[in-house]
Amino acid sequence: MQYHRPGSLDAAVTLLRDLGDRGMPLAGGTFFVPHRRELFTDIEAVVDVQDLGLGYITLENETLRIGATASLASLLESQVLKNTSFRIIPETVAQITPLELRNRATVGGDLCISAETDLPTALIALNAQLLVASGSGTRTIPLEQFYAGYLENTLQVGELVTEVMVALPGRMSGSAFHKFKRRAIDLPVLNAAARVELDAGGRCVAARIVLGCAEAIPVRAGSAEKALLGTRCEDSDIVRSSEATGDIDYLGDIRASRELRRVWGRVAVREVLREAVKRAMEN
Ligand SMILES: Cc1cc2nc3c(=O)[nH]c(=O)nc-3n(C[C@H](O)[C@H](O)[C@H](O)COP(=O)(O)OP(=O)(O)OC[C@H]3O[C@@H](n4cnc5c(N)ncnc54)[C@H](O)[C@@H]3O)c2cc1C
Repeated sequence: MQYHRPGSLDAAVTLLRDLGDRGMPLAGGTFFVPHRRELFTDIEAVVDVQDLGLGYITLENETLRIGATASLASLLESQVLKNTSFRIIPETVAQITPLELRNRATVGGDLCISAETDLPTALIALNAQLLVASGSGTRTIPLEQFYAGYLENTLQVGELVTEVMVALPGRMSGSAFHKFKRRAIDLPVLNAAARVELDAGGRCVAARIVLGCAEAIPVRAGSAEKALLGTRCEDSDIVRSSEATGDIDYLGDIRASRELRRVWGRVAVREVLREAVKRAMEN
């Protein structure tokens, strides 16, 4: 296998364009290396994206920008993310173990795997957008629309994710993340994240509730969101919302049955809503 390590974004997208479906980006390699022989048999060359200057985490003009090669560990350490509006990001990353993995794995890699991961759930709740570059320019994709199926995303051959963007939410908003896993070091069996926004009178004016590993790709729990909108987010409203997840077509597999995921889905939505509402009221 050929290994390329370009020093600029232009050089990387040119290489990826020229390689076509024979090549692919390589970031931390924590997914690529163990799955190379099983999933990437047609790949003849990798383009290492670690030298493209995409390791930043900044807050400019009320927009959080995280470069694609920022390590998961750097999200835990970032002062910018200690801002209460974004603290769900390090809280989510803290549940991705072990430490060696967080040091090596990148945000772009975690988002592009398109399988059982945690960060996409949290970032879809925050309404994150992806910036994508290719030989023909850049485009923005809402993360919510990025996933096409298990291990499938909507990137075209030759495209590279360069950045994740999240707009600073309104003042009375709060978010939270919850994960069910089998062991201390494990991929999620189910996770959930929510962001709620309240008006001055404490009524819910916006809600984004997301479930990961419930279906093949992360999904919004639309009926649960609708049930919460306009309420004062009393505990009874939260419980009613968490029970309105009938529109989710839960998966059953070797790690958890469909029925167990349905129960966990209700519990996870209830937990994230309680925490998100509490945080919104504190803001
Ligand atoms: C032991 C172990 C435990 C784990 N536990 C968890 C867990 O609890 N929660 C969780 O969420 N994840 C978990 N993971 C998954 C882990 O988070 C991923 O392996 C990691 O995030 C992938 O990032 P990477 O930079 O190493 O990607 P790579 O392995 O380098 O790449 C992964 C894929 O993304 C593509 N890619 C990478 N960067 C880009 C880019 N900028 N643009 C376009 N495509 C790109 C690559 O082409 C490849 O297809 C675990 C992994 C291991 C090995």
